[in-house]
Amino acid sequence: MRMHHVTRLALSPGAKQWKCPALRPLGTVTAWQQHNTPSQSREHREPYPSSERRPSKSPRSSPNGNVRVSNPLRPKGALDIDRLYPPSYITTEVDGVQRVFASILLRDLCTCEMCVDVSTKQKLFSTVDIPLDVQGTARNTEDGVHIRWTNDIAGYGPEHVTHIPNASLQSIVEHGCATPEFKPPQRVLWEDKRFRADVQDMPYDAYMGDDATLHRAVRQLHTHGLLFLTNVPEAESSVATIAERIGPLKNTFYGMTWDVRSVPQAKNVAYTSQDLGFHMDLLYMKQPPHLQLLHCIRSSSVGGASLFTDSFRAASNLYLLHPNAFAALSTLQVDFHYNHPDSHYYRQSRSLIELKRLKLGPLKFGGLPAMLRAMEGENTIGPVTADAFGASDWIDAVSWAPPFQAPFSMLSTADVDNAVPWPFKAQALKVTEHALGDKVRRWHAAAQNFHGMIHESEGIYERMMKPGECVIFDNRRVLHARKAFEVGDAGKERWLRGAYIDRDPYMSKMRVLHDRFGSLQKER
Ligand SMILES: [Zn+2]
Repeated sequence: MRMHHVTRLALSPGAKQWKCPALRPLGTVTAWQQHNTPSQSREHREPYPSSERRPSKSPRSSPNGNVRVSNPLRPKGALDIDRLYPPSYITTEVDGVQRVFASILLRDLCTCEMCVDVSTKQKLFSTVDIPLDVQGTARNTEDGVHIRWTNDIAGYGPEHVTHIPNASLQSIVEHGCATPEFKPPQRVLWEDKRFRADVQDMPYDAYMGDDATLHRAVRQLHTHGLLFLTNVPEAESSVATIAERIGPLKNTFYGMTWDVRSVPQAKNVAYTSQDLGFHMDLLYMKQPPHLQLLHCIRSSSVGGASLFTDSFRAASNLYLLHPNAFAALSTLQVDFHYNHPDSHYYRQSRSLIELKRLKLGPLKFGGLPAMLRAMEGENTIGPVTADAFGASDWIDAVSWAPPFQAPFSMLSTADVDNAVPWPFKAQALKVTEHALGDKVRRWHAAAQNFHGMIHESEGIYERMMKPGECVIFDNRRVLHARKAFEVGDAGKERWLRGAYIDRDPYMSKMRVLHDRFGSLQKER
């Protein structure tokens, strides 16, 4: 009946990219599937479409008799590269075991002086210059494999030898990458008590003057996502000085730095500035700031305490206690906007819980729930549960900013645009009002759960910021709020000065400092 629509979509000659369901990213849900899933099975099936191919266990043999590295989890119907392009492999020994590597992979890895510039570290050839059927002869030595190429890139003579160290080969075997990515320290999910026990304020002078202290600061911004500096000079420029110790300031339409300064808006407002609920900044941008800094230059005489809470802790608890709510919030898109058409209009859709793409061997998953679903009953390593992964391994960011939420929409990037090919969009839109209603209802119920969790009092760290203090926090993890306060005399109002830093410069700084000081941090 209704599910036929899905089948027809998948088989239609017009929908080329859908010929092979396995090519569709795991964990995506089409508007059709959201709409057509029978409600009684919804709890269990959603958001994982029933038409999705499961990973297959069957090993595949090669038509040409070459040794094949077949992964038992390789999905059925995956493109068989050997049938389309000439297979060319190099066999070499890694840690006493014969391993087979694609010749192109190894040729591409060459870092000799002819292939990578010694000074700029930039590649001197393009991967596409490598012949499709590049072949070579390998010689194993103590320090790795040495390969002479029989049909090398044009311009490379017979003297060119590629050397790949054992460590790189080993790393490919273990991690699927010759140079493993930097693995940041494990995140610590905190509640108020844990935060107070774990961390201490950091004096401004040490932060500015000592690289090892800066490393501790940057590390804490990853593990806990929240840091306080004390004894900060009163100067307006201090917040920029603090930020630039980590990386360049992020400029926005608010300026390089900006003021949070409440003045009475109207004479009848009774000189009280109201509560500002938990939120994150600039979610209506494609790349919201990663770090936010707020330097307290002047505090209010009464009220105005700052509140912080760890949204990753809430998301993690949500996963354990309300997995369906977690699934809804990690897949359904909600829009944020900054809607002042006369000056600025920003709009961005994102899921409340943004998951990292998980990798298991060659397979990638939209997130842990998608992976658990795909693995269900077919894995060889035993049951995979949430306990097997720390939240920091699979939650990438949270998006929570109720004041900037835009009207709900089915045109959010992941809901319709990516899921429904254009020829079928018109058809899909016929049921849009149902789909949109279903979506809002699912999101609303799940978001109520999340809202309850971020407001659990034991999770909230409250602090009356004093002049000379500066808070730095992870804007995609730690929610911030402010309690109501009384505005003082004119010219003496509460005054914070803020700045932002993007994720890239922050990660770069953490990586560089980790390489210098990482081993000193083991005892922590
Ligand atoms: Zn080379």
